[in-house]
Amino acid sequence: MKYYSTNGKAPLATLQKAVVKGLAEDKGLYMPQSINPLPQSFFGSIQDLSFQEIAYQVADCFFGEDVEADALRKIIYDTLSFDVPLVKVTENIYSLELFHGPTLAFKDVGARFMARLLQYFIRDLKDSKDLKEVNVLVATSGDTGSAVANGFLGVEGIHVYVLYPKGKVSPIQECQFTTLGQNITAIEVDGVFDDCQALVKSAFMDRELNEHMQLTSANSINVARFLPQSFYYFYAYGQLKKLGLADNVVACVPSGNFGNICSALFGKRMGLPINRFIAANNENDVFFYYLQTGSYYPKRSVQTIANAMDVGAPSNFARIYNLYNRSHEAICAEISGATYTDEQIACTMRECLKETAYQLDPHGACGYRALQELLHEGEIGFFLETAHPAKFKQVVDEICGTDIEIPARLQAFMKGEKQSVSMSKNYADFKAYLMSR
Ligand SMILES: *Cc1c(COP(=O)(O)O)cnc(C)c1O
Repeated sequence: MKYYSTNGKAPLATLQKAVVKGLAEDKGLYMPQSINPLPQSFFGSIQDLSFQEIAYQVADCFFGEDVEADALRKIIYDTLSFDVPLVKVTENIYSLELFHGPTLAFKDVGARFMARLLQYFIRDLKDSKDLKEVNVLVATSGDTGSAVANGFLGVEGIHVYVLYPKGKVSPIQECQFTTLGQNITAIEVDGVFDDCQALVKSAFMDRELNEHMQLTSANSINVARFLPQSFYYFYAYGQLKKLGLADNVVACVPSGNFGNICSALFGKRMGLPINRFIAANNENDVFFYYLQTGSYYPKRSVQTIANAMDVGAPSNFARIYNLYNRSHEAICAEISGATYTDEQIACTMRECLKETAYQLDPHGACGYRALQELLHEGEIGFFLETAHPAKFKQVVDEICGTDIEIPARLQAFMKGEKQSVSMSKNYADFKAYLMSR
């Protein structure tokens, strides 16, 4: 499979190049040249397949031409060693709990998959050239950093730099990437998430720096990070089918950089029978505005209690726009939007807990509320519960009057010692730091 750039001015790339480079030369995002549909027989028996088997079949469609079957199967089985429960919340609303992975983040799957795939490709590169090390740069508003750091921890030949906005990630999230050591370096940036993302983007575009070190991205701009997230949607569909509820399915995705929902839209192109999608936003709602008006105006992000969605310029918008041939009408036909203030999110969390006994986190709350408001008669909706509520314990307890338990896996991180490098938001400082490495 060859990959083209959304900006259309870069040469076609192999999967290996797309994964190792992250971003195309013209700053565009890589897209697969074709999307292969899965056979009807697959959807006929999907309800009987394990999560791993479903994921393998889907991954084979995307990556099968470029990765040996045995290696791909091993990568998948190594990546997906945890459960993804579909929990009934109301009569027609289900929660797909994506927080049972190693760092309790849905990004664990993409991060681990990418780490393994990159490792697979580096092995090839090492045979041909004298490649010393690949350096992964990742900007995070919280969850990406922990998932990527843990996914790549101890992987030989790869060093990870996690850039995060000072004082704007929850204490538990911060522990998950500042206490690891080994091949993981945490960089605390005096700015907001968009500043971190801008530093990473500038670094990729800097020829001198790229001659000094091999750089790639583990944000959802990387095809190996975002595409594996489609596994979740196939599995959710299979579980609904098992319950006899798969005729009229709506998927609702709390969205920030739009990598997660974008992977689902690829799934639909592969034949996944999900009827329509809802992108739920917090107050960072440039996509919602685009749906209403047809105009896309990225802006500076504002801080909310659903901080992993505090993105003012969602990078995967370019992929969605491209996937639908730049047609606002085509996009609106399959995707609708919603946007909620912190106050609405808090209110939703309290009411859901009271009425259904289900504990939402602030991100999942956006998804749940959007389904409550936008689901039609006869539809079954599932939203992605993208974070474990304990990750936002302080906020959640304050809103709901609870004292939620912190899972042992999270507590383990909190015992480690925090180590990070302080950085201004000026690119010159960041570059000087990397050049000295
Ligand atoms: C990353 C993240 C999101 C947003 O996902 P995108 O793929 O960036 O749209 C939502 N919720 C949580 C908890 C996240 O970590």
